[in-house]
Amino acid sequence: MSSSQSPVKPVLAASDRLQNVAPYALARVFQDRDEKVRQGADVIDLGVGNPDLRPPALAIEALKAALDDPSVQNHRYPSFNGLPEFRAGIAQWYRTRFSVTIDPEGEALPLVGSKEGIAKLLFAHLNPGDTVLMCTPCYPAYLGAAALTQSRLVEVPLLARNRFLPDLGAIDPEDAQRAKFICVNFPNNPTGAIETPEFYQELLSFARRHDLFVISDIAYCDLSLDPSYRARSFLEFDRDHERTVEFHSFSKSYSMQGWRIGFAVGNREGMANLLKIKSNMDFGVFMAIQRAALAVLTGPQDYCREAANTYRFRRDAFLSAIQPLGYPVDPPLATLYVWLPIPRRYGSSMEFARDLLDRTGVVVAPGIGFGRAGEGYVRVALCVSENRLREVGRRMSDAGFRY
Ligand SMILES: *Cc1c(COP(=O)(O)O)cnc(C)c1O
Repeated sequence: MSSSQSPVKPVLAASDRLQNVAPYALARVFQDRDEKVRQGADVIDLGVGNPDLRPPALAIEALKAALDDPSVQNHRYPSFNGLPEFRAGIAQWYRTRFSVTIDPEGEALPLVGSKEGIAKLLFAHLNPGDTVLMCTPCYPAYLGAAALTQSRLVEVPLLARNRFLPDLGAIDPEDAQRAKFICVNFPNNPTGAIETPEFYQELLSFARRHDLFVISDIAYCDLSLDPSYRARSFLEFDRDHERTVEFHSFSKSYSMQGWRIGFAVGNREGMANLLKIKSNMDFGVFMAIQRAALAVLTGPQDYCREAANTYRFRRDAFLSAIQPLGYPVDPPLATLYVWLPIPRRYGSSMEFARDLLDRTGVVVAPGIGFGRAGEGYVRVALCVSENRLREVGRRMSDAGFRY
């Protein structure tokens, strides 16, 4: 051993902000799943919201064309605020889809998936100790991003008795007064709940009254499972884009989750601050992917309708397969999830998920991973075929997983 070598093992300590992030709640379930697979079990994974559908042919053709372009233009660094044509395409989509006018110069920003955008938006605006109102259960990435900012998270519970809409009147007025943001996501992951115009109107008044900003995530706006429901943008209500930053993604509408592309629109200062933080941390989206995404966004939207139909058939197959087991669940009107209440005999959603995996080989996501209000539920992602979902019903029935 050389004498210069230190006897003490060096410790590479994570920052306070990183240590503030709780371990990923699903990690435990995934470990168990991987162990089961190693043992050779036929595992059915309903744990992650990872679409199994092929992206639109139009996306793949447009990507190929961009790659075959003999010039080098698509391979160079993109500009930080994205392709002007893509920003114009975003504005066009908002106009046709929601009758909302977006200025492509300053009110729209392409993202490397909405997850990075949401995290960086929080980073760009929150100091340690600032208050954020977070409607939970929610997309776990919000919880991690908020923890990284060392902000003070106030969970606003989404409860079955309120059709999983937040009760804004029940928020402590002091918390509301201190908060900088309220985060909403409708149609909602994980509950499948949908917004109402009355709720969005009330949310806008609430935001004005307490001088806070709304982060709206419409990742599931194209996955309506009911012909009478058409998702809204919060910008249909906040018409001057005063208080809103809205996020959308290609991951669920077009099953392009591996491509990493989404966008943010809304409040100009919010966009400028997001652009500033992004230009210090990333280089934007591969231009060939922006071109393909533009083709999809401004092309015919049949793909989304067909995807939604697929998820509707799966929802129905799953719900009829477990119907004899007595779970009190209303069919979700949107998204690709079923939010399943767990039987009272289980102490926690984690315990239920582990027992279900152990005895049936079926993976579900324990509700506690989506925030405190998620306890008492598990999330079922409809990312396998109808046949496999019927198989889930059979296995649960054979193993006695009655409600
Ligand atoms: C899947 C999902 C997204 C998509 O994130 P990307 O980073 O665009 O893939 C965004 N928000 C919610 C609520 C989601 O469930």
